[in-house]
Amino acid sequence: MSYQSILDGIAAEAPKYFGKGKVASYIPALAQVNPDQFGIALLTADGELYKAGDADARFSIQSISKVLSLTLALQRHGDRLWQRVGIEPSGTAFNSLVQLEYENGKPRNPFINAGALVVVDALMSRISAPTHSMLETVRRLADERSILIDETVSESEYRHRERNAAAAWLMKSFGNFFNDVDSVLRAYFSYCAISMNCAELVKAFSFLMNHGTCLQSNTEVLTPKQTQQVNALLLTSGLYDAAGDFAFRVGMPGKSGVGGGIVGVIPGKFTVCVWSPELNEFGNSVAGVFALERLTEALDVSIFSGLA
Ligand code: GLU
Repeated sequence: MSYQSILDGIAAEAPKYFGKGKVASYIPALAQVNPDQFGIALLTADGELYKAGDADARFSIQSISKVLSLTLALQRHGDRLWQRVGIEPSGTAFNSLVQLEYENGKPRNPFINAGALVVVDALMSRISAPTHSMLETVRRLADERSILIDETVSESEYRHRERNAAAAWLMKSFGNFFNDVDSVLRAYFSYCAISMNCAELVKAFSFLMNHGTCLQSNTEVLTPKQTQQVNALLLTSGLYDAAGDFAFRVGMPGKSGVGGGIVGVIPGKFTVCVWSPELNEFGNSVAGVFALERLTEALDVSIFSGLA
C-alpha cells in the first residue's frame, strides 16, 4: 500500500474518535478551537511529502516547541546544558512542582514545563531577541516564511501563568534560573503559541530523521550524536505521562502538545505529524495516538522492529 492510501484511510477513520476526548481548556484561547478536525502529514527521508485531512490547517504547537527550544539551546551550550536539566522521565504531570522541590530545582527532563523553562532561560543568556530568533529558525527549518506566533494564545497563557511562574521562581530559589522570570515566561509562551500545520511540522523536524541535517535547507541543525540523544529523550519523555504506552503501541520517538499535535520520527525513514484537538487524560490527542498506531501497524515499522 502507498503512503498516500494509508494516510487517506487513517483520515477517513479518524472521525470515529471525535467526541472521545476534551479540548485543552486551561489556556482559554485554546478552548475556542473546533474539536472535530484531524490532519496528518508524512515526509520521507527522500523528501516526498504526503498529506491527508486537515494537514494544512494551522494549530497551536504548544509543547512541541520544547523540542525546538532544546535544539537552539543545545546548539549554544552543548552538553553543559545537562548540568541544569535531567534526562529521566518524570512520572509526574507536565506542570508538577512537587518533584522540583525535592530534587533541588533541577527538572527531570527538558519536556516537562520546568525543564523547558530552564532551557529557555539558558537560551536567553545567549541570544538577545529570543522570540525573533525562534521564529526565524522555524521558518527556515520548515521553509515557510508565513509561520507566525498567535498573540492571542500567548497572551492567554501569560494571563494564566501561575504554575509556570511558580516553577521558574522555585528554580531561581535553587540557583538554577538566571534571567528575569517574566521575560523568560514571555519567550516560552510565544514559542508555545507558534501556529503551524502538520505539513510544516514534518519539514521543521526533518533533521530528527536525518542525522541532524535539515532536509529543506541541507544545514546541520544538531550533530548526529545530539540527534540520537534528542530522539532518545522524545521516546522516554515526549508524551507526558504516557510515554511508555506510546512506545508500546506506536514505537517511535514523538512529542505531543496540548494543542492536539503530535510529531513522530522513524530515524532514516520519515517524520510524521498528526493533529486533532481533543486530548485524552494524559494530554495527548486521542485521534492522533490512534492515527500513529494505525500508521506504524500498516507500514509495519517501529524503532524496535529492526525493519525500520
Ligand atoms: N504552554 C503550555 C503550558 O505551559 C504547554 C503545555 C503543553 O503543551 O504541554 O502549560
